[in-house]
Amino acid sequence: MKSALVTGANKSIGLEVARQLAQTGVYVYLGSRDLEKGKQAIEKLKEEGITNVEVIQLDVTNDESVKKARTEIGKKTKTLDILINNAGIYGGYPQTALDATIDQFKETYDANVYSAVRLTQAFIDLLKKSPEPRIVNVTSSQGSITLHSDPAYKYYDYKGAVYLSSKAALNMYTVVLAYELKDTAFKVNAVCPGYTKTDFNGHRGTGTLEDAGKRIVKYALIDKDGPTGKFFSEENNPETGEVPW
Ligand code: NAP
Repeated sequence: MKSALVTGANKSIGLEVARQLAQTGVYVYLGSRDLEKGKQAIEKLKEEGITNVEVIQLDVTNDESVKKARTEIGKKTKTLDILINNAGIYGGYPQTALDATIDQFKETYDANVYSAVRLTQAFIDLLKKSPEPRIVNVTSSQGSITLHSDPAYKYYDYKGAVYLSSKAALNMYTVVLAYELKDTAFKVNAVCPGYTKTDFNGHRGTGTLEDAGKRIVKYALIDKDGPTGKFFSEENNPETGEVPW
C-alpha cells in the first residue's frame, strides 16, 4: 500500500486530497496543526467508510513539530511515497506592494515557502526509499509572473504582493528541487487547485473541492513517464493543464 503525507489536511482542499488519495487505496497521514481538528476530520472520513487514514500533529511553520511528525511517521513506515505540501495562508491585508508589512511577508513565506523546504528536507530520506516518489507543491496560477504580467489573464487585477510572491517563490523552489532530483524516480510538480470555494477566500471561489482535489491527486499518482518540474493549472489551461512560470 502506498503512503502519503498531506499538510493542512484538517479541512478544505487538504482534507479533500486526503479523502481522494485514501479512496484510491493510499494510506494517508493527515497533517493538522491542531490535533483536535485533525481527529474530527478523521472521524468525518471514517463516517464515510474511509479507514486508511490517521492524524499527525503538524505545524508546517514549526521545526520541532515537523521533526516530531517525521519521527512519528518513521516509526510506522520505512517509506513515504507522496508528499503534498498543501498548507498555506493568504497573509492578511493590506496586500499592496507599498503597504504590506515585512511581518506579513515573513509569516506568509514561512507558511507557504519555508514549509515546503522544511517538509521536503525532513521527509526526503523516506521518500527516496519509494520506487515512485511524488511531491506536489500546492501553488496558485496567481504565482505565475508571466500570467500576472498579461492584462488578458482573468485574475490580472487580483494583485496581492505578499501571497502572489510567496507562490512565485514556491514555484522556483519546485523547479530547483525537480532539477536536483532529475536523475531519480522522483516527480516534483507545482499544481494549482483552481479558484475553489473554501475558508481561504470566504467561499467566494468558483470551483468545487472535488475538482481541486482531483487536480492535485492526478500529480500525486502520476506514472513514471509523467512530467516533473512543471507548473499545472487546469483552470487556466483546460487542454494540457500546463501554464507558464
Ligand atoms: P484553507 O481553507 O484556508 O485551509 C488551509 C489549511 O492549511 C488549513 O487546514 C489550515 O489549518 C492549514 N494551515 C495553515 N497554516 C498552517 C500551518 N502553519 N501548519 C499547518 N497547517 C496550516 O485554504 P485552502 O483553500 O484549502 O488552500 C489550500 C492550499 O491551496 C493553499 O496552499 C492555498 O494557497 C492553495 N490555493 C487555494 C486556492 C483557493 O481558491 N482556495 C486557489 C489556489 C491555491 P487550520 O485549520 O489550523 O487553520
